[in-house]
Amino acid sequence: MHSEIYLDANATSPVLPAAVKAATAAMDTCFGNPSSSHVTGLRARSVLGAAHAAARRVLGAYDGRVMFNSGATEGIQTAVLSALCAVRAQRARGQACGELVLIGATEHKAVPESLAHWNRLLGTGLELRVLPVDADGRHRLDVLRALAPRAAFICTMAANNETGVVSDLDGIEQVLRETASPALWMVDCVQALGKLPLTLSASRIDYAPFSGHKLYAPKGIGMLYVREGAPFTPLMCGGGQEGGQRSGTENMAGIAALGAVLQALEQGGTFRGHGQLQACRARLVAALRAAFPDVVFNAPLALALPTTLNFSVPGVASADLLEVFDAAGLRVSAGSACSASKAAPSYVLDAMGVANWRSASAVRMSFGPLIDDEDIERACERIAACARALQLPLLAPMQAGCAGLAQFDREGAAGWLLFNAATSECIAIDLAPAPLEQAQAMLNGYRLLASVSSASRHGAPVIALGDEALVREGDVWRFGRLDNGVLAPQAARFVFSAGGVAIAGTLRHHQGQQGQQAHHAGSMELGPDAARRHLAQHPDTLIVDVRCLREAGAGPISLNGQAALNVPLARLVEHAALWLDDDARSLLFVCRSGARSARAARTLRQLGHPRAWSLAGGIALAD
Ligand code: PLP
Repeated sequence: MHSEIYLDANATSPVLPAAVKAATAAMDTCFGNPSSSHVTGLRARSVLGAAHAAARRVLGAYDGRVMFNSGATEGIQTAVLSALCAVRAQRARGQACGELVLIGATEHKAVPESLAHWNRLLGTGLELRVLPVDADGRHRLDVLRALAPRAAFICTMAANNETGVVSDLDGIEQVLRETASPALWMVDCVQALGKLPLTLSASRIDYAPFSGHKLYAPKGIGMLYVREGAPFTPLMCGGGQEGGQRSGTENMAGIAALGAVLQALEQGGTFRGHGQLQACRARLVAALRAAFPDVVFNAPLALALPTTLNFSVPGVASADLLEVFDAAGLRVSAGSACSASKAAPSYVLDAMGVANWRSASAVRMSFGPLIDDEDIERACERIAACARALQLPLLAPMQAGCAGLAQFDREGAAGWLLFNAATSECIAIDLAPAPLEQAQAMLNGYRLLASVSSASRHGAPVIALGDEALVREGDVWRFGRLDNGVLAPQAARFVFSAGGVAIAGTLRHHQGQQGQQAHHAGSMELGPDAARRHLAQHPDTLIVDVRCLREAGAGPISLNGQAALNVPLARLVEHAALWLDDDARSLLFVCRSGARSARAARTLRQLGHPRAWSLAGGIALAD
């Protein structure tokens, strides 16, 4: 299995070794409460003070407030609460302060969601209005110019998490000044830290939230900058920590770790500079172009962070790319929110007016400024390998001369496709029109001979497929090799009926389905340790990788040094006959997360195999 190359830094990053060390010290030797007046507390207070000072220097925040908190979502809440409370107070005094809140169209959901929440809760009654972006993903300054005089609060981001597009903050600031906008201004700086220069005190920005985990600090620690004189209302009240700005005993492990990251930023020598990061990205771009000649990049590279790429490959869904990349050990993410089966278009790309197919199939590759050239080179090699794996047929014939059987499972309804690679012909059984279309697309060029329903008694009673045939007898369809035009019961490889499919002269297995409910999932799962013990005790166990052919092509699986045989889940029944004939031998099904292998083990148990297991948690936990 491949080692991991982490290219999802915009989601979160690993933790800098110096930050781990600082956090460990804060929990070990320097565990004090910084509010305590004794020596143990003083030591912790010194760590807190040093982190604060480093934060001010790195953010260029020489006046105003800087407070540590749990992260950007909290910082956004605090900024929103502060701004809306100020608007409410101004209105109560009869002062004009604008009636709009302008929200950048590509903001992280934390911004519009918290604005809607607090606007409702505080009864501010402000109109929340989207500030559109142009095709490059940058805020429409013409729209801003028209609306800024009526705006009470404006929320924009420094750089977008999906596309990396860097906002024109100077341009926005100029518009706000020229229009004498009364608006308070929040800039979500989460993706900017360590990647863009920051001089917050010199800007008109009123609020700037940050999250430590986007730049090598742990999750659960962040900071908020509030400009000198900007309205402020604490979100958390209590013991008066952080100068009364954010109560609650400080997260000292997180603060110490973030302090170490800030110190590394300040001192230089740890993180790579803009030019080097651009060179890394250029290598990835070249590798993607070589691997996928039609690839399109969804944001202009010149306007994006040098650490972020967002692209789409025509004809390849992001879910498929992600699966294959993951199998190759390349951790990337969908550019859009993506459910298991269907990619939802990205609201960020939609806001930029990107074509729907690109928005729905976008992939984001992002790395942090600690990346080394070796990882970039290895990533480039794997991108090429993934492109080759994606060329593999989705449904390859597995046994020469015999028809293959693929199962299509949609919303609980199982349909089947028999296909013969030699004649390029196929027969559909119980496939509704939509899955049938999908199945044929996978078979690409196969001729559909017939589409039958297992419950129907109509249509031709014999449909030949190569040397074999599907024969209707009463209320079942049998499939196998004919002898003198007759399909002997023992020659049937598969039997289809309204109750499902049975296998190879195995009406015994079919009937065995009655007992299926007895096998509940728990009893079929082996955790990683139990699986290794099982393999040691039963060395003849067959490990079966039920991921699709392409995933297996991109990254084969082995466990305890034993290579897994790839039989995609859709082809399980086709192969089950072989395993049922040898049911003293254990089967250990594996996949990425444990979901597909659990289905495979259940199916084999239902078919009567007593020794079918699934690796719980998949290779994700066994690696
Ligand atoms: N803003 C941006 C631009 C982000 O990328 C994120 C995290 O994905 C957030 C805000 C929220 O940060 P957190 O989840 O750390 O609070």
